Amino acid sequence: SVILFWFRRDLRLEDNAGLYHALKNALAAGLTVQPLFIFDTTILDALVDKADKRVVFIHQAIERLHAELAELGATLDVRHGVPLNIFAELLNEYDVKGVYANRDYEPDARARDKVVYEYLNEQGIAFRAFKDHVIFEKNEVMKADDSPYTVFTPYSRKWLSQLDDFYVRAYPTRVYLDGFYQQEKRVIPSMGQLGFEPMTVEFPSEELDFGALDAYAEQRDYPALPATSRLGVHLRFGTVSIRQVAAHTRARSAVFLSELIWRDFYQMILWHHPQVVTQSFKPMYDQILWRNQSSEFAQWCAGQTGYPLVDAGMRELNETGFMHNRVRMVVASFLTKHLLIDWRWGERYFAQKLLDYDLAANNGGWQWAAGCGCDAAPYFRVFNPTLQMEKFDPKNEYVRRWVPEFETAAYPEPMVEHRMARERCLQVYSTALKT
Ligand code: FAD
Repeated sequence: SVILFWFRRDLRLEDNAGLYHALKNALAAGLTVQPLFIFDTTILDALVDKADKRVVFIHQAIERLHAELAELGATLDVRHGVPLNIFAELLNEYDVKGVYANRDYEPDARARDKVVYEYLNEQGIAFRAFKDHVIFEKNEVMKADDSPYTVFTPYSRKWLSQLDDFYVRAYPTRVYLDGFYQQEKRVIPSMGQLGFEPMTVEFPSEELDFGALDAYAEQRDYPALPATSRLGVHLRFGTVSIRQVAAHTRARSAVFLSELIWRDFYQMILWHHPQVVTQSFKPMYDQILWRNQSSEFAQWCAGQTGYPLVDAGMRELNETGFMHNRVRMVVASFLTKHLLIDWRWGERYFAQKLLDYDLAANNGGWQWAAGCGCDAAPYFRVFNPTLQMEKFDPKNEYVRRWVPEFETAAYPEPMVEHRMARERCLQVYSTALKT
């Protein structure tokens, strides 16, 4: 008899909350733990790019977990299909006494888990989920009247006041690592079998001790410098633990810790306000008459706007799946305010391209830039992409790296004049907000 542990956004053995509880409770009940991963066709079939680097990332992480478990005499059972159908198969193959996982706060994941929960419940099997992805979740950081925050600064103050060693302590999973169900190694579906191109991709390291942490506060806004952690993709898929990152960085950089608080903040917002997936947090902003010119959108996507910092960002994104935070803010502001294209278009494009794509943070970032978010930039603050470049890429190093032709005749003129675009934006926004 086994407890199934279902890996999702937590692709590691070390310091994994749900896995720890599964192993510990299995030991107490005289059971073992069978680890499971499902390549979910509902998600994979919706990906248009069959050379998606994120699938490569997950596949590599699964191969690594599989090898680590094999050393323990266990096997990661890797399936490919719709979770509900897979669970029906698994219940025939194993004597399942319980299913454990870590919580996922996205609306689609919540809907998926509900269906699985109900199915298991009908069979008399408990499905238990744990907090692992964030430091504080949904209702853990609340206002004095027990309502959720919608403004970051007071949320962050409360978050910090609640943080103590307990919340960043690692779950000592390793103590129980002999508690897995022992069985012959099974085969993992190949990238080809999943319908994706096998590729070699170099991913950012999961090294926590990134050299620049001490200089993070001064340097993090300069895209030419390797000053940020690049941990986004690892935090997204749980190949590093958020507790470890927070424990390691908390005493060394308050500014870095604050970014981790933003991460919790947006997850909390998504939990309490799942409508933000399709709607502006501030409903008035859905009255904006977006221009939504497809040809202009295509220029923005391709990095051909004639604004070097915008173009550098978009080309970096297209080529590597990464874009620096400062540049994300600038390109998002440019799309929504200079071109008056609906933030949802840009959000969707980022969702297809970003290695560290995360619904909560991406939606939060886009709504912030468009001005319609919970704690957004005021709508009349329109970034000047030229001044942003002068300030944050003063030697043009970043821009030259991605737009080598920018000082030559081959480089296009700005697709829209800044002052005109700014005026147009203010007019369109203020009209929408007045009605
Ligand atoms: P670091 O500066 O080293 O920060 C460390 C970690 O803190 C990040 O990996 C991330 O997990 C978290 N973090 C940092 N800034 C934020 C933030 N503003 N909101 C939430 N978490 C944050 N971040 C994503 O993880 N996924 C996204 O899809 C995403 N989309 C964005 C879209 C827009 C329009 C904007 C303006 C920002 C977006 N961000 C997103 C936030 C931020 O840009 C990235 O987290 C950061 O650039 C990732 O690089 P890094 O790992 O080197 O970050």
